[in-house]
Amino acid sequence: MAARLIDGKAVAEQINTETAAEIVRLKSRNNLVPGLAVVLVGDNPASLAYVGSKDRMCARLGMRSLRVNLPATTSQGELLAKINDLNFDRTVHGILVQSPLPEHISEGDIFEATDPTKDVDGFHPTNVGKLALGDPSGFAPCTPAGVQQLLIRSGVAIEGSHVVVLGRSRIVGRPVSLILSQKGNNANATVTVCHSRSKNLAEICCSADILIGAIGVPRFVKADMVRDGAVVIDVGINRIDDKQAEKGYRLVGDVDFEAVREKASLITPVPGGVGPMTIALLMSNTVRAATMRHGID
Ligand code: NAP
Repeated sequence: MAARLIDGKAVAEQINTETAAEIVRLKSRNNLVPGLAVVLVGDNPASLAYVGSKDRMCARLGMRSLRVNLPATTSQGELLAKINDLNFDRTVHGILVQSPLPEHISEGDIFEATDPTKDVDGFHPTNVGKLALGDPSGFAPCTPAGVQQLLIRSGVAIEGSHVVVLGRSRIVGRPVSLILSQKGNNANATVTVCHSRSKNLAEICCSADILIGAIGVPRFVKADMVRDGAVVIDVGINRIDDKQAEKGYRLVGDVDFEAVREKASLITPVPGGVGPMTIALLMSNTVRAATMRHGID
């Protein structure tokens, strides 16, 4: 029987509804409007689309959004000065610098310059360290935190399960492995992290109760890499040529969806799976940053 779909849009919408309610509460009780600054350097079309959807979501949920558009020629020093301004801006509770940055700018330096209490995408070394140490006072990166929420809200038992993560990147693979192996509720998984040098990949994947694809290779995960009844979460977003599509391309994940859904018990589609969760978690992290800054429970 084909797998049940995990509807990321619907789950993200649940979270957005909770976030909007929290924003109403903060406005009425504390006269506080959470604010998110989104910094875009250059005019990469995909990045423009991403920051546009973040702006629209802020407006929809009643949050203040501040868009900072900088030309691709912006120097690292100029960007650092802007980040410094935002660190001191009392109306800004969250700062997101859209990736990728131009090659002459070090992403690591920019993450380090961001006030960790405003680092709502969880990339500052302090937040990465807190996640690694199991200290819940930091911010976890939005996409991996979104994966955990998808599992929780779809009723998947994480505790004690074997999770195999394909990919060990700073933004997805590594943090999702840390999140799901934490000692605590909705975690306690046994996690195996695979990467481009891993051996016996198919065999390892077949031992997964929960298989997470985050490598950026279109349809890499085939049906014979998936155990019957496994839960499959596809983080990949890959463009493939499609002459019939209006834009000349379409999006596919890292999982060979049609074949794998015949073996899995639950599976996320692409698009409409993990994608909407990333923005939902960005919004909820920003509200949390605002409450923490103002000492509100
Ligand atoms: P990345 O930084 O390029 O990392 C890819 C990881 O996959 C690396 O650890 C790499 O191994 C591993 N890998 C690559 N090819 C492999 C192979 N053939 N076998 C095994 N491992 C392999 O990518 P990323 O930023 O994590 O993104 C991964 C995917 O998720 C992309 O499609 C991206 O667009 C998508 N994404 C989606 C969202 C969302 O909101 N849904 C957010 C972020 C990313 P090495 O470390 O050995 O190089």
